[in-house]
Amino acid sequence: MSAGKIILYIIAAIFIVFGVLFILSAFSPQGQPGNIITGIILVIIGFVFIFLAARRKAGAAAGDNVTLKIDLPANVNMDTLKCKSCGGVLKPENISLVNGAPVVTCPYCGTTYQLTEEPKW
Ligand SMILES: [Zn+2]
Repeated sequence: MSAGKIILYIIAAIFIVFGVLFILSAFSPQGQPGNIITGIILVIIGFVFIFLAARRKAGAAAGDNVTLKIDLPANVNMDTLKCKSCGGVLKPENISLVNGAPVVTCPYCGTTYQLTEEPKW
């Protein structure tokens, strides 16, 4: 996990925590209903940061020359591995290991998802 990604997650956590606090404060006796909107906006900003952090990981996987030994499920045939989302043909380098699970990052549409044990391609 890169430092930049960790910082993005921390920022996201701060926004979400403050957003939830704003929402909760709106329900307190002297709370203002407008705090709900402020809280929701803060939470959304937090999730945008999480999204950015996830995208950053996808970009780093393509840019970094970190060689991973990936043990794919035995029934995954790389010749016919296609993106679930856009149908683009995926290459072995589009697959990275995240928390021990093989994760596909589509170079065509940017979709990221886990490889399942029994792909239906
Ligand atoms: Zn795709």
